[in-house]
Amino acid sequence: MFFTGNLRKIPLPHFFLTTFLIFVIPGNRVVSVESERLLIVFTANNNGQLLDCGCNTEYPGGLPRRLTAINNLRKEYGEILLLEGGDFLGTTDVVLQNKFVMDAYDFLKYDGIAFGEQEFWNEVPFFENEILGRKQSFVCTNINSSNVKDQTKGRIIRKIKVIKNGYKLNIFALLHKNSFLYFPDNKIPSFQFEDVKRHLRSELKKVNDHSSLNIVIYHGDHWIFEELKKEFSEIAIWLIGHEPGNLLDSWQESSKPVIVQSGTDGESLELVEVSKSDKGKLFFNVKRLYLTEEIVPDVELKKSLEEYYNIINVPFKLKN
Ligand SMILES: [Zn+2]
Repeated sequence: MFFTGNLRKIPLPHFFLTTFLIFVIPGNRVVSVESERLLIVFTANNNGQLLDCGCNTEYPGGLPRRLTAINNLRKEYGEILLLEGGDFLGTTDVVLQNKFVMDAYDFLKYDGIAFGEQEFWNEVPFFENEILGRKQSFVCTNINSSNVKDQTKGRIIRKIKVIKNGYKLNIFALLHKNSFLYFPDNKIPSFQFEDVKRHLRSELKKVNDHSSLNIVIYHGDHWIFEELKKEFSEIAIWLIGHEPGNLLDSWQESSKPVIVQSGTDGESLELVEVSKSDKGKLFFNVKRLYLTEEIVPDVELKKSLEEYYNIINVPFKLKN
């Protein structure tokens, strides 16, 4: 892990925190310890895209390019927190395409994956087998999953509690039922998405640790979000899926609560850098990292996704 010397506009204490501290320990061995800095990487609204999204020639996006960018950030920061905000799958009845997205997500190694309504478009057997059947960390604070079938029971957790780079984090995920309003009746899932406020309040009560940073991934309409933001002042960071939004592509300091909306079709990564002064004051910097042409797509993942286009005319049979 190396200090990269980014000459961006950052507050002075933050600048000092990003440098190495050098310690001399007995035996004349010099070790360097990077001071606490945490990078949160957020994606949402991939909408089933596999290779270049075709949505913007300047920022072609695509999952193999996303993997390269994430690997580069892992090299730069060491440990990162990688979170997904939902609608990673497309509203396509070609289930094979969505299966390939899931395969790609196995490469990306998320710390937490929240659902959008689009993950239910291919209906319950697909959700249970091709999504919950994966060894991934799925999080939804307000799902009633009592009717999930036995072999995938317990695959959805209410919150993620994790320590990264010395930061204690509680990660919650809300999927608002209004997100399903455009679904045809025959596609409405049998799972219930319960009251977001009640479930977030009840999970927050269980936390009881004021030194933790609370992060919520919210998937739903903005007017509900406005209410949530007012009511839950203890949330430090809101990561928003479903409705895309703007974020500058250079680092900007943000005060609490930090609010980050994603791009439109997987053409970017949203970054939140958290750092701490020696008195414990937190600093937040945010930026959008566009997945431009210059980012070379990961060769192995690209090859694996190209398979989809080779077999696209062959019907995909879902295994039970
Ligand atoms: Zn959505």
